[in-house]
Amino acid sequence: MKGLVSIVSILHIFCVSYGVLSGDNFSNVGIENGTATPYDVIVVGLGAAGVSALASLARAGRSALGLEAAGRLGGRVRTVEFGRGVVELGAEWIHGENSSLTYELAVKNGVPIRIQSYDFELRQSDGTKLDQDTAEDLMTYCVSLIGSPSEERESKGRYFTRKIVEHIANITSLANDTDFIGEFLEFANQFVNLYDGSDDWYDAATDSNFENLAGNQDWSWHTFGYRTLFDILLNKYNNGTGLPVDIKLNKEVSSIQWSKDAERAVTVRCTDETTYSAKSVIVTVSLGVLKERYNTLFDPKLPDEKINAIKSLTIGVVDKIVFSYDSAWWPKPIFASSFVWKGEHKTNITKEDLWTTKFDGFSVPFGSENCITLWLTGETAKLVETLPDDVVIRKCTETIRRFFGPQVPEPTAVIRSAWYSDPLTRGSYTFDSVNMTDSARARAALAAPVLDDADFPKLLFAGEATNQKHFSTVHGAVETGVREAEYVLNVDPLVVRTQTFLSEDVKFLTQPSPCLYIQNGNTPYDVIVVGLGASGISALSSLARAGRSVLGLEAADRLGGRVRTVEFGTGIVEVGAEWIHGERSSPTFELAVKNNVPIRKQEFKTSLHRSDGSQIENEIAEDLINFCVQVMDSTPDKAEPYGVFFTRKFEEHLSSIPALVNDTDFKDGFLEFSNRMVDVLEASNDWNDISSVQEYEMLEGDQQWSWHVLGYRTLFDLLLVSLHDTLFDPKLPEEKISAINTVEIGVVDKIIFSYDTKWWQSEYSFFGFIWNNRDRNGVAEEDAWTRKIYGFSTPLGSENVITLWVTGEAAKHMETLPEDVVRTKCTELLRKFLGSQIPEPTAMISMLYVASGCCHHIGDNGGKGVINNRQLPTPLLQHERLNVQAPRSTWYSNPLTRGSYTHDGINVTDPTGARLTLAAPLLDTAQAPRLLFAGEATNPNHYSTVHGAVETGLREARNVLNHLENSGTTR
Ligand SMILES: Cc1cc2nc3c(=O)[nH]c(=O)nc-3n(C[C@H](O)[C@H](O)[C@H](O)COP(=O)(O)OP(=O)(O)OC[C@H]3O[C@@H](n4cnc5c(N)ncnc54)[C@H](O)[C@@H]3O)c2cc1C
Repeated sequence: MKGLVSIVSILHIFCVSYGVLSGDNFSNVGIENGTATPYDVIVVGLGAAGVSALASLARAGRSALGLEAAGRLGGRVRTVEFGRGVVELGAEWIHGENSSLTYELAVKNGVPIRIQSYDFELRQSDGTKLDQDTAEDLMTYCVSLIGSPSEERESKGRYFTRKIVEHIANITSLANDTDFIGEFLEFANQFVNLYDGSDDWYDAATDSNFENLAGNQDWSWHTFGYRTLFDILLNKYNNGTGLPVDIKLNKEVSSIQWSKDAERAVTVRCTDETTYSAKSVIVTVSLGVLKERYNTLFDPKLPDEKINAIKSLTIGVVDKIVFSYDSAWWPKPIFASSFVWKGEHKTNITKEDLWTTKFDGFSVPFGSENCITLWLTGETAKLVETLPDDVVIRKCTETIRRFFGPQVPEPTAVIRSAWYSDPLTRGSYTFDSVNMTDSARARAALAAPVLDDADFPKLLFAGEATNQKHFSTVHGAVETGVREAEYVLNVDPLVVRTQTFLSEDVKFLTQPSPCLYIQNGNTPYDVIVVGLGASGISALSSLARAGRSVLGLEAADRLGGRVRTVEFGTGIVEVGAEWIHGERSSPTFELAVKNNVPIRKQEFKTSLHRSDGSQIENEIAEDLINFCVQVMDSTPDKAEPYGVFFTRKFEEHLSSIPALVNDTDFKDGFLEFSNRMVDVLEASNDWNDISSVQEYEMLEGDQQWSWHVLGYRTLFDLLLVSLHDTLFDPKLPEEKISAINTVEIGVVDKIIFSYDTKWWQSEYSFFGFIWNNRDRNGVAEEDAWTRKIYGFSTPLGSENVITLWVTGEAAKHMETLPEDVVRTKCTELLRKFLGSQIPEPTAMISMLYVASGCCHHIGDNGGKGVINNRQLPTPLLQHERLNVQAPRSTWYSNPLTRGSYTHDGINVTDPTGARLTLAAPLLDTAQAPRLLFAGEATNPNHYSTVHGAVETGLREARNVLNHLENSGTTR
């Protein structure tokens, strides 16, 4: 249950390892100053769009380089530690939920984002506060207008003025207060400008294509900060393992040289004179930067329609001034306080200080409780960016005191944005200006890729400005990054590379034994890898990547060994390894993720049944399963037979379940069921054969990642322990043979049935069988093996299919039985536990090695799979054709595995020592490694798993390479 690698990964191992490039006409692809660093894509700018593009490319296994001019990621997302937490100098909220990638990423990753409730007040410059009902009515109305723009095309100023005046006419207390109406309109102008970054609401158009996403508009990352989004995108959040991306900060791109010539790569030059090349470049710099640099940044110049789009679109400016105080002096709770200037006060303000009348109030950041944020837009923001801090602090404090009274203290610190002065942004976000008739078309023109003569995209454009409907937002920027990455992935699919690679460089011989070899002329290979399973393939690919000549030999007629995915039912099922166990530092998990294989977590919901056909109450079943998981996760303080340890714990636990505490029948049955469960995990025959203290270390992360319909389809290592006797000439040293005999290999088999329709309750994915004593005793001796089937699971990869699990001696016995017997007995078993209505299966699965033909070769130590090489039966070349004839896996009868996976036996005093001895290379007199050993059994901590096998293949490849490098052996 813990083991093996898929064919998908294998192909990707090659692609990733060799950095295979399709159409390798790109002789200089990915060259950094002459160093071979193959990049498929370079992303210029690492804000929300750039990082999203980079992450999508990396997850799809592409070599991608991100170049960012600043010393940090994020661009217009900028979270800084300030006050008693964090504040946002750029983007602050996630606007909307429906189809929002940012919202989804936050929720999926368990970030406890919170809605910032919209509590506000309206104050006037004489220090009075508008009554709350009127204030709420006015503000709610303004916000509603923003969400439902005019049908006809006009400026926002005209439209809002008309609507607000109409609205106030219905408020009796204000209807005739022309002073207030004028003053409120001036405030509303500033307020509306915040949405666009416009200088004046007469600059912005009402018929914008901008679309709000449904859902709340004020989701806040509060103390986590918007920066968390970047950790999530790059798989670093929550101690994630990261992504294989190359990110270079402080790399300001000064020119991008591209060509229509399909043979030539794009070269990117930075201000520090470094250059990088790639097949495509995704440009994500802001519209402000493009406006300033389109003439110098691209060589040759961009097409006219692109330049026209850059010129015609508008970017606005929104700035924040954030003050922190020793303590909050404003009334709490509050989201924002809005400032309405009285005409007579405004006229007294000097021209130089007029800007102080243009911030529309302040909001309270959610991430730092003792701070306030003042907002400025347009020309005012640009002007204030040029003023020194002390002037800004003094003038703002004077203004705030005017609205709140003289008791307002001086701030203790200030931090300010300067999005316009910043040469890397030159503005805050884009808006649809009133002067622009077809901004959607201009945005589409800005987004359009620049193709070469072969229609391959040389330059691609992402960034909020290129989003026709969601511009000016983070989610809009993320969408464009993903959009451009997907475009590249579609026009340049990875599968083509694999084929090119396999056909040109590696021969995959299918008959009678598959070989993978890297050509080496007449000289001997550097390394021969025996057995092409997870570890063998990993070793082979690492060596080949390092330019070594390698030969891989596999006795079976297929690659994969203990990983075996077969087509069955409506999809595929795994006859061998099924899940990726754990995430952190798992090479299999990383390969899957890196290559964008959509693996899925399989959730297990268990239903427990007794042999009298009754079902254990859901709550109790859940409690029992949780208990089992807890015990299995716990670290016992002494080594004893596992069954003794578990039984003691269970007896303690049972006393807390009144319904079952006196049911001895249940107790016996459940212990037997748990015994089988442990046997499946450990591939043991009985839980008392294994020690309660295991050296196995679980990798952190979810333990049940499934390849579902894609299948684990991978190659695998030939079991070394089964071959030592005759394979090596001269024989192996004694300590190695002794290690082989010490490490124990167990047997886990699957019996897989498919049905026309599902007859089980589909909310459960595992059904456990608990025997009553009377029923157990009634089972005939020849059917005793069926008692060891502890239940069945439902695979993710095929509908209407179930997998029954059997281990140890029972599994070995089952392998020798004719298929109709296995089928009949299993159906009887299912009917006993789940009811007589259960139908016959319509098909079953086999990976039979003609059990009777090889079992008699097995000696006393057959459990460890020792056989004589000369007696190896000819493998059946037509494996797959048999796959609906016989009903089970036969990992023990299979002479090329002789078992499922290894465990630490109770009688083994130093299992780790034995594994290390098994792993030790055999050296010649000049200390050169002549024989090296990989495979799950040689992994001291991660044995019995695919990721453990992969680790050992990589480990031995590294050993060989170190030796070859040190001895100066040339390639
Ligand atoms: C004050 C403010 C408040 C905002 N509030 C919100 C909000 O609440 N919610 C919301 O959804 N959105 C908000 N936004 C908008 C949001 O921040 C942007 O839409 C989004 O972050 C833009 O991402 P981007 O990747 O398109 O561009 P950017 O973030 O600008 O990324 C471009 C990157 O390119 C880099 N770069 C520039 N020139 C070069 C060069 N020559 N070489 C290499 N790198 C270069 C820049 O340094 C930058 O990192 C706000 C923005 C601001 C400024």
